[in-house]
Amino acid sequence: MFILEYKVKPKPQQILAIEEAIRTTQFVRNKVLRFWMDNRGVGKTELFRHNTQLRKEFEFVKDLNSHACQTAVERTLRAINRFYDNCQKQVKGKKGYPRFKKNTRSVEYKVSGWKLDQQTKKHITFTDKKRIGRLKLIGSRDIQYYQPEQIKRVRILRRADGYYVQFSIQLDPRDTVKPLTPTQKAVGIDVGLKYFLADSQGNIEPIPQFYRQSEKQLNRLNRKKSKKFRRGQPQSHNYHKARQRYARKHLRVSRQREEFAKRVALRLIKSNDLVAYEDLNVKGMVRNRHLAKSITDAGWSTFRRWLEYFGDKYGKITIAVPPHNTSQNCSNCGKKVQKTLSTRTHVCPDCRFVEDRDINAALNILKIALSRVGRTLTHASGETSSWLVGAILLANEDSLNEESSCL
Ligand SMILES: [Zn+2]
Repeated sequence: MFILEYKVKPKPQQILAIEEAIRTTQFVRNKVLRFWMDNRGVGKTELFRHNTQLRKEFEFVKDLNSHACQTAVERTLRAINRFYDNCQKQVKGKKGYPRFKKNTRSVEYKVSGWKLDQQTKKHITFTDKKRIGRLKLIGSRDIQYYQPEQIKRVRILRRADGYYVQFSIQLDPRDTVKPLTPTQKAVGIDVGLKYFLADSQGNIEPIPQFYRQSEKQLNRLNRKKSKKFRRGQPQSHNYHKARQRYARKHLRVSRQREEFAKRVALRLIKSNDLVAYEDLNVKGMVRNRHLAKSITDAGWSTFRRWLEYFGDKYGKITIAVPPHNTSQNCSNCGKKVQKTLSTRTHVCPDCRFVEDRDINAALNILKIALSRVGRTLTHASGETSSWLVGAILLANEDSLNEESSCL
């Protein structure tokens, strides 16, 4: 599955129709959730049956395409299952009891309720009784390249800067690229507070300037917004304008960060056959307020998502290793060398190995990954053949030896 996205510019009455459709999915979602809360132990079947009931009861629910109503129920189900999952796994802290939504941003259709214009293929018409009508798809990617049967979902989405239509297309991303020639290199990466990441080959990716800059700008816009807020009264026109400006800035910043994460991830995947990283519990770390800023900031989970995506796409191996003393241990001899957060350099008293703290950690991460790769390979990547891994292991042993021999 991958997503194609187009901007659309609906007319005022179309905006009303889209908002009405979004409100209806929210209504269905919340009603089904209420039903689940009031009737302990009801399952999937009962929830879908309740949806059918709602369609009989309310005219405006019936107006929305029946599959779109179903996706609303599916959303509720996902939230419920996640909650049960967390309870079963005994996740620490809050279990995420499903809540009512009040700010839904999208409505999702399946394979019916919409039609692509067969001639231009640049227009989509929504055909249910919500009367959204015909929208022009603005964007350079070509939807006619894909077969209509490949389009499994269509979503209309509201963002701070307008409306978008997304097509979810069933296609293995591996089918769209030629496999890359193996580079016979493996790399371990450590995400730090000081750098965006440091790798075992000694490279450092600094945190981009715009992270700090945009933070300042966001704070400024947020202050302006708060100044215009009036407690317990309807908000002024100026407040809404400030709110909009803040939201648009957020959108821009998140796009910038996404682009950055994507670029770094792609570069790593293209120049290595195996990428190892720490399986960080970001949720736990963000709770520590001294570390919080840098980690949420550096967008680690976004980065990891892209890394795994590209790894899958290009047939490379990505391995998450449990974080365990990776920054403390000496990557050369294995001795534990205690250091505080402010110690930036690793100096081993035993073997006299000296390296930047984060690069030392990256070397450890790579070591752990390589020791596990034999066992986990069948899970880590179904497709990569074993000779490739053999080659990586050999190539890497050499490079590790080189590292230590020159010191
Ligand atoms: Zn050592």
